[in-house]
Amino acid sequence: MISLEQVRDTILVRIQRLPEEQIAIEHATGRTLAHPVMTRDAIPPFDNTAMDGFVIQSQDLKKASAENPVTLPVAGVIEAGMPGNIPLLPGQAMRIYTGAVVPPGGEAIVPFELCEQVGRESVTFTQEAPMGVHIRKKGEDVEEGGEVLTTGSKLTPAAIGLLASVGATEVSVFKKPVVAVHSSGNELVPVGSSLEPGKIRNSNLYSLCSRIERWGATALPRPVLMDDLDAIRTGLRETIAQKPDVILTTGGISAGDLDFIRDVAKEMGEDVEIRKVAMKPGKPLVDGTLGGIPFFGLPGNPAACLVSFEMFVRPALAVLEGRQDGIPPQRNGVLKEGCRLPAGQRLRWLRGRVQPDPSGGLDKIELPGGQGSHLLTGFATANCLVQVPASETDLAPGSPVTYWSLTEEDA
Ligand code: AMP
Ligand code: MG
Repeated sequence: MISLEQVRDTILVRIQRLPEEQIAIEHATGRTLAHPVMTRDAIPPFDNTAMDGFVIQSQDLKKASAENPVTLPVAGVIEAGMPGNIPLLPGQAMRIYTGAVVPPGGEAIVPFELCEQVGRESVTFTQEAPMGVHIRKKGEDVEEGGEVLTTGSKLTPAAIGLLASVGATEVSVFKKPVVAVHSSGNELVPVGSSLEPGKIRNSNLYSLCSRIERWGATALPRPVLMDDLDAIRTGLRETIAQKPDVILTTGGISAGDLDFIRDVAKEMGEDVEIRKVAMKPGKPLVDGTLGGIPFFGLPGNPAACLVSFEMFVRPALAVLEGRQDGIPPQRNGVLKEGCRLPAGQRLRWLRGRVQPDPSGGLDKIELPGGQGSHLLTGFATANCLVQVPASETDLAPGSPVTYWSLTEEDA
């Protein structure tokens, strides 16, 4: 057996980042920048007011108070979108609206609600207005010619807004991986079918494609590979010809007589390893490249297949796309209830439901029933994978554990 970390390291060495492509920013959410983005313009592009009110010169309101009110003539109105280039002279006020240009000479904004006797011709002030108050300075967010986003930035909705604000209609991002998915096994029938004796529905195809799409890659569902050497060869050849960025199979990699995926991958592929990973679920794994494309033969058991995806495929997808969130940080929590596990030599990944502790303590984790590698109901309500070392067999309620969140990637 080999440790999860050792396998992951070997896999990641083989993975190379995908080329970049230029896309419209409206299609770039969740993508990773391949180049820094600079701005020609300052953001904001001019000094502007943060409030509706009056723009004045601070000197004019020096010593203004309720006892010593100051009345100034209203010399004009500046609305958002106007050039705002008529200078404000000493002893004048101008009515101004949020986002409008602060005119030359304008030093401070007094919001309407702080003014007395607001009129068309004049306005009265009863307090001072220090220089710069309620004025948003030119270049406060980004300076002219400055870098707005660095290479490797994940394009969040706010980042898309920032790109729009600097006029970047298109951006260079790393290509989004296309992941081909083959299920395998003579027992599989399409999910819309009723079950004849001996048959089960092809659920892994759906769970894997769902996982791939949620991660932010493109799933390419492929036909089921029957348990037949030639059928598998042909199926994989056809998939290689489609030039996906990653090929996944599920099933057919254990030690059974009909587990042909393992053998065909070894025969057709380069650098293909048949593993026994020291983790449960997810002991069998085949990894390598097929026609130069990273290949993962994942286990067939539905829970094992998803756990192996998290541990090996997810980090690989992150490298392909230049993302930083391939291996999530290990978090600390405590088990809500105790749990007994058989002794073994493999690290266990238990499906858990983590809830923050309202009193501020460590996160509390429940373990839903049905932890077998063939069971999905517990997994279906889980939001984390709890890591339990091989040596631990008796976990008392409140036992500290580390876990891997299933919900907090930045996608
Ligand atoms: P295998 O490794 O092919 O022997 O599969 C291990 C277990 O996973 C068997 O019980 C299979 O029936 C089941 N299995 C394999 N592929 C799928 C799939 N696509 N959907 C649901 N269960 C599967
Ligand atoms: Mg099978």
